[in-house]
Amino acid sequence: MIPLDEAQRFVLAACPPLERSSRPLEGALGAVLAAPVVTREAVPPFDNTAMDGFAVRAADTLGAPRELPVVATLAAGAAPGRAVGPGEAIRIMTGAPMPAGADAIVIVETTEEPVPGRVRILETVQPGEHVRRAGTDLRPGQEVFPAGTVLGPGHVGVLASLGHRHVETYRTPRVGVLSTGDELVDDARPLAPGQIRDSNRPALLAAAAASGFEAVDLGLVRDDPAALEAALSTAATRVDAILTSGGVSVGDFDHTKRVLGALAGDTMRWMQVAIRPAKPFAFGKIGRVPVFGLPGNPVSSLVSFELFARPALRQMAGHTALFRPRSWAILDDGYRRVPDGKLHFVRVRLTRDGAHRLRATSAGGQSSHQLLAMAVADGLALVPDGHGIEPGGEVEVLVLGEG
Ligand code: AMP
Ligand code: MG
Repeated sequence: MIPLDEAQRFVLAACPPLERSSRPLEGALGAVLAAPVVTREAVPPFDNTAMDGFAVRAADTLGAPRELPVVATLAAGAAPGRAVGPGEAIRIMTGAPMPAGADAIVIVETTEEPVPGRVRILETVQPGEHVRRAGTDLRPGQEVFPAGTVLGPGHVGVLASLGHRHVETYRTPRVGVLSTGDELVDDARPLAPGQIRDSNRPALLAAAAASGFEAVDLGLVRDDPAALEAALSTAATRVDAILTSGGVSVGDFDHTKRVLGALAGDTMRWMQVAIRPAKPFAFGKIGRVPVFGLPGNPVSSLVSFELFARPALRQMAGHTALFRPRSWAILDDGYRRVPDGKLHFVRVRLTRDGAHRLRATSAGGQSSHQLLAMAVADGLALVPDGHGIEPGGEVEVLVLGEG
């Protein structure tokens, strides 16, 4: 058996970032910037009012209450028209440009309108009050986001405010998923003796999509080396990475590792990783396309995805933070185990107690076929080799569904 980090290093070394691609802003959410974004415009582009009210010269409000004639009205979107002269006010709406001559805004709430065309200013204002100056959000020439930034809704908004219609990112991997196994059925027909339903493919397609990758269904392949070889070779021309499940253990019909060995040559490695679940794992490249030979047991395939495929695919997508965040938690019920040379990943549910400490409780049955516990878990607790953890002991947890 090899340690987890050695297996992870081997995989990551073979999965460099994909090439850059310019993508429309509409499709940029979750993508990673391949180049810094430098502003070419000021935001706001002009001095404007932050409030509905009256544009004035602040000096004219000294000794308020003061009454001023209202000489014009300015809406957002209007070009700045006439200037505000001494002793004058212009009615102005949020976002409208500051008229020349004015240096402050008196908000509507501190005014009265004694007669149409006149305003009574009830409070003195300071120069600059409620004025948003040009460039106070973004200055032209400023580097706003470095390369490597993961684009969220706010980033998309900033790019839009600067007029960027496209953005330079790393390409998002297209991830093909196929299942292997003569026992598998992928439609609603009643199960014949010995058959089970294919759950890995839908789960792995969902896992790929949930991590922001483009998931491609490559179907179900029988336990037939020729069929598997054809499926993998074709897939390698269509996608950037392939996830298979099953066929990497030591059974008579575990063809995946042999076929992958033939297609991937000496880039292929069949590993026994010192973890439970998900000990067997095959990895190799068909040309530039990495193939992750995940184990067949439903929990194992998802845990293997988490530990090997997801970090590598994130690296291909340009991410530099590859792994799930880890936290320490109190393992309420403890976890008993025997020494077996492996790091155990226990499916747990996480909560915060009154003192805001993270607490982990078992999410259910921990065998590798008990997918329900994986489904309801939001963490994988790392129980090191040994005799386990006492109830109330501390455990490190991979926090799923974050980062
Ligand atoms: P294997 O490694 O191919 O021997 O598979 C290990 C176990 O996982 C067996 O019990 C398989 O029936 C099961 N299995 C393999 N592939 C799938 C799948 N796509 N969906 C559900 N169970 C599977
Ligand atoms: Mg199988």
